[in-house]
Amino acid sequence: MDSETNEVGMKVQKLREYYSINLRDLAQAIGVRHVMLNKIENGTQRLDLETLTKLSNHFSVSAEYFVNPNLSIPQATKNVNEPSSCVTAFKRILDNYSTEKEKPLKDNSFAEFVRNDVVKILNNALDIDSSRYKVIGSPGKGLWAKVPWVGFFDRNVTLSAQYGYYMVYLFREDMSGFYLSLNQGYTYFRNKYKDKEGRQKIQKTAEIIRSRIEIPSQFQLTTIDLRSEASLAFGYEAGHICGKYYDASSLPDEFEMINDFRSLLETYNKIVVLLNGRNAEELNDYLLLEDDLEFLETDEESFQKLANELKVDFSDEPKEEPRPPKTVVTDNLGKTRYPRSAKEAALALARANYTCELDENHETFLSKSSGQKYAEAHHFVGISNHPKFPEVDLDRAANIVCLCPNCHRKIHYGEDEVRLPMIESLFAKVKERLEQVGIEVTLTQLKEFYNISPKRT
Ligand SMILES: [Zn+2]
Ligand SMILES: [Zn+2]
Repeated sequence: MDSETNEVGMKVQKLREYYSINLRDLAQAIGVRHVMLNKIENGTQRLDLETLTKLSNHFSVSAEYFVNPNLSIPQATKNVNEPSSCVTAFKRILDNYSTEKEKPLKDNSFAEFVRNDVVKILNNALDIDSSRYKVIGSPGKGLWAKVPWVGFFDRNVTLSAQYGYYMVYLFREDMSGFYLSLNQGYTYFRNKYKDKEGRQKIQKTAEIIRSRIEIPSQFQLTTIDLRSEASLAFGYEAGHICGKYYDASSLPDEFEMINDFRSLLETYNKIVVLLNGRNAEELNDYLLLEDDLEFLETDEESFQKLANELKVDFSDEPKEEPRPPKTVVTDNLGKTRYPRSAKEAALALARANYTCELDENHETFLSKSSGQKYAEAHHFVGISNHPKFPEVDLDRAANIVCLCPNCHRKIHYGEDEVRLPMIESLFAKVKERLEQVGIEVTLTQLKEFYNISPKRT
């Protein structure tokens, strides 16, 4: 047999495998004997014109495909009137993934289908703006993925499933169905925290995001089960924010599938709004602050409440020694801010027994929420000076004074003649405890920090 016949036979076989149809079924579908088709495939019989035409019509590929060795199946596929639908593409993955993954991944035409054709089909059907969104189909790299996926990445947010926020179709390992999921990259959390803590943190951000954005009714599903033991699958499950399940036995119609996609894309856009110029890591840090009892802005009442809830007892105070500074965080206006720990403030209030550190006889009132005397926490060396103290954390109970509300307003807004004696008096009181936590400061510096005009000094 000549090599040309052999090559044509291989192209027939490749086409059949590309569409994952077995030899018997194909022979029956196009009305030829399967023995003959088998001979054509293995190169022991020439491909006659009649069979070629049947194959060409059945698969909508040009006749040239069979004779031109350089023409790939997608290139040769004719534009049929009805474009391939998302539902058909997903169904093909569900129906064939389990058997295809038993074969080598390299040069597998089904893997190519997931990587390229599905992406094209979805790009078309969903009318994706490719300048904004990158679409990736993943049957795995090097090895078949246990959980194959097709992801949509807003180029302003992330370009990978490892970091940031994205939308994804995730297939269950057992191919019983798949999810449309708004998800987050787990790698960031795993690298920043340990595995167990990372999982808690990613679930926590998912929870916070759900509380911050409005989620359409069809995407209320907050936990997903990929039926897999693979570690990547755990990451996807933990990172899931919201979404919907499609069971293989009852796939929706194309209209519903496309509508769902559009609707979740709008939800995805709300995260982009939440990002507000921050990168995804900055948003994560920001969202997680409160989980660590840290805040960018907190009203004094909440410190009071917290002090009460934590039942802060001054004997619990951690050893007073210098501590390295915290990482600054970008707030929702895109400004970098130094986080404040509610716990430190609560500790400072409790230590002073909720009385004004300038004069314990200053009158205050009982707080309705805590039942304690109302007092406010004031950072003696203002937190905004943190760049001048690159070695130490300024957000320490030692640097927080407990003031009555009147004194607190006064030290911020009073005239210099009034403020300076307050600063001097407090300095005498806190100097030693500041030194213990490595905050070395002079009165001259304090005057500068408090913006006391020099002519008064
Ligand atoms: Zn203050
Ligand atoms: Zn006072």
